[in-house]
Amino acid sequence: MKKVAIIGGGISGLYIASLLRLNSNYEIIVYEKNNSVNLEKGYGIQLSVNSIKLLNKIGFQNINFKEKFFPNKVNFYSLKDKNKICDLDISAFNESEVKYTTLQRFILIDFLTNKLPSNLINFNKKVIDIQSVSKTTKVIFEDKSSIECDYLIISDGAFSKTRSLITDKEIKPKYFNSIAVRGNIDRKYLQNIDHNNISLFLGSNLHSVVYPVNHNGYFNFVTILRKDLNNEELADYSLFDSKEFISSALLEISKQVDNNIIENLIDIKCFPIFTSTEIFQPKNKNIYIIGDAFFSFPPTFAQGASQSIEVAHELYQNFENIDDQFNKERIKRTKMIDRKSRLNYFAFHLSNPLIIFVRNLLLRYLVKNNRFINSYLGKIYKN
Ligand SMILES: Cc1cc2nc3c(=O)[nH]c(=O)nc-3n(C[C@H](O)[C@H](O)[C@H](O)COP(=O)(O)OP(=O)(O)OC[C@H]3O[C@@H](n4cnc5c(N)ncnc54)[C@H](O)[C@@H]3O)c2cc1C
Repeated sequence: MKKVAIIGGGISGLYIASLLRLNSNYEIIVYEKNNSVNLEKGYGIQLSVNSIKLLNKIGFQNINFKEKFFPNKVNFYSLKDKNKICDLDISAFNESEVKYTTLQRFILIDFLTNKLPSNLINFNKKVIDIQSVSKTTKVIFEDKSSIECDYLIISDGAFSKTRSLITDKEIKPKYFNSIAVRGNIDRKYLQNIDHNNISLFLGSNLHSVVYPVNHNGYFNFVTILRKDLNNEELADYSLFDSKEFISSALLEISKQVDNNIIENLIDIKCFPIFTSTEIFQPKNKNIYIIGDAFFSFPPTFAQGASQSIEVAHELYQNFENIDDQFNKERIKRTKMIDRKSRLNYFAFHLSNPLIIFVRNLLLRYLVKNNRFINSYLGKIYKN
């Protein structure tokens, strides 16, 4: 039996653990640095059909209907003139049990965790070193314990330390010149918006997204706000928890977003957004890398978790049968989604009134153009 160590108990690590477990040739253990999986309430997540199809392979369709939502449309609004621009049909790629889904992030993590026997996840195991020992890999943890494994799967997120350890150089994601401000809001404070779908508000140097995450009137609110921060500010993580920083970000947002929304947000959190600048592939054939550690996308196509799931599934299918972990198609696909996410960011944050006018005209035309939809969304959603 081959031993597979998975570093990181996030979406990608837990998903691939569930898949590999089905093969009795492998002994799987997940090593997570924290003392539990992250079941923090409040974060929402959008999952497009490309990942729902893969999650259904391990029973995601059986999650209580009340805990998820199936929006059919994205409604685009202009924050400048407070008007609806157009709407985009995201249900065009749905099938009977495979639907664009929004839910609370902890529901997904809880589902993935419950798919695994409790002794399969080892907590308080922070990786601090990796060594090659003949044909196996030795993983050394902060508590001075160590293990040897035949295969190592790195899934420790955007700031992956394990990725840097296997190359002996620090690989850091780059600040995306933007912060995210997120919170929750009750349906009763969301007036004049369509409660059954996703609302996307386009402003100047910011955009906001509001969507239902269940059938209990609970909505997720996220704003992506352009913000220059220097290295010192970025290094000081307590800055993003400080009341002053959060208040100043909310003040900035309230200049454009309905104050009734801002005043009624709860569980507000701020964090800087970091993205990958290169695709990283390990040289050692028995070491694989998935999830945000493989590539962190800008959040403007809501594809981070969906891609984490796709890449994990691809690795599972190809496990032991490949020379390089990912083929040319995967590299092409990653670059394509990254490009589209960056293009969305650009289009969502325009300031010049004339360019905004042209963008809105173009948006109205494109959302009704099947060829465009099939190419722009279809190439991502129909994997
Ligand atoms: C504002 C924002 C909104 C987003 N919205 C969406 C969305 O709507 N839809 C979507 O698809 N995606 C979204 N994403 C992206 C999505 O959240 C991520 O892509 C996804 O969580 C990545 O999963 P992962 O398993 O790779 O990493 P993570 O979920 O970050 O998990 C990594 C795990 O590794 C552990 N770990 C770290 N270091 C070590 C170590 N040294 N040793 C052991 N364990 C370690 C961590 O504790 C953690 O549990 C969003 C992201 C942002 C920033």
